[in-house]
Amino acid sequence: MGLPEPRQPLDCGFCGLGLGGEFRPRRTASRLPTRTVPPMSAAVSLRTSMPLAACPCCGESTRKPYVRTRDFHYGLAGEFSTMRCSGCGLVFMDPMPSVADLATLYPEDYYSFQPPRLQPAWRRFVKRWLGLQRYTYVPHFAKPGRMLDLGCGSGEYLLEMKDRGWEVYGSELSTAAAEAGRRSGLDIRSGELRAAGFPDAYFDFVRLNHSLEHIPNPLDVLPEVRRVLKPGGRLFIGVPNVDGLWARLFGRYWWYLTLPVHAFQYSPSNLTRLLERTGFRTLEVRYNSDAGGNLGSLQLWLKRNSAKPADGALVRSIPLRSLATAISKLVDLVRMGDCMEIIATRADV
Ligand SMILES: [Zn+2]
Repeated sequence: MGLPEPRQPLDCGFCGLGLGGEFRPRRTASRLPTRTVPPMSAAVSLRTSMPLAACPCCGESTRKPYVRTRDFHYGLAGEFSTMRCSGCGLVFMDPMPSVADLATLYPEDYYSFQPPRLQPAWRRFVKRWLGLQRYTYVPHFAKPGRMLDLGCGSGEYLLEMKDRGWEVYGSELSTAAAEAGRRSGLDIRSGELRAAGFPDAYFDFVRLNHSLEHIPNPLDVLPEVRRVLKPGGRLFIGVPNVDGLWARLFGRYWWYLTLPVHAFQYSPSNLTRLLERTGFRTLEVRYNSDAGGNLGSLQLWLKRNSAKPADGALVRSIPLRSLATAISKLVDLVRMGDCMEIIATRADV
């Protein structure tokens, strides 16, 4: 295992990565219609939020305040608090929103809810080498098999893997996004994974790319992922790294903090612990950062007093994004990048 090709576009969402994972501010995304996000004056309702009783990674119940800040990306009203586990350093929202509450925070025109589109290979290649689009690591498989993308949005990544010969399935909390993907011929089950009803040991490859940090109940979801993964299959998880250089430097202005939709912020060590606790064995930890952590965070800091600091000239500049991505890749080399990718397998094999 471990060959680095092929790579696929990132598809993290709320945090400002654009369609297909491109680091693109929403103002320039041509497929995004008029926003329906509640204005700053509207109250954000988290009716069923509860303080986390114990850390899902290490079981520790003591924690310290981390940062309290507002939504810099979409301008949702209010401020949101985070705590840091005293045992393992996991950062989490306090109180922790329920699955139902988090679902209400996504706008109807959220980028990954748009109809999926398979970009031409040449376009992906150019964007990748200009540092404008990240490609996530895909473990080597002897031949295409059956895969699940958990938190797939409308399924743009699934279209690419289907094009490579894979039998593809998606699971997506948003009914609208799942429906958009189904209209493109994809099998995307809406709602929580458990409700999808996949058989035991069904998938060769399960991918959670920038979706685990959005999930408020990982101790419910990861065992279900384990159940549907074949013995010897591969689990890919891509998440921000709260122990990375840019997170440490920028603090509350770190681009990937992305409150209130990022329920958890992991580090390599505590995510490995969480995987062990839920029946997985970590095979590899990689770093794959882009311009979000440095240039995006600088953008937030410079416009910190405006309604939506994420909309700014820095992140719209192609040369600056290319340069910032190159700098982030150097930081990745010393394993301090702020986006990490973990490959794991079932611990029982
Ligand atoms: Zn902990």
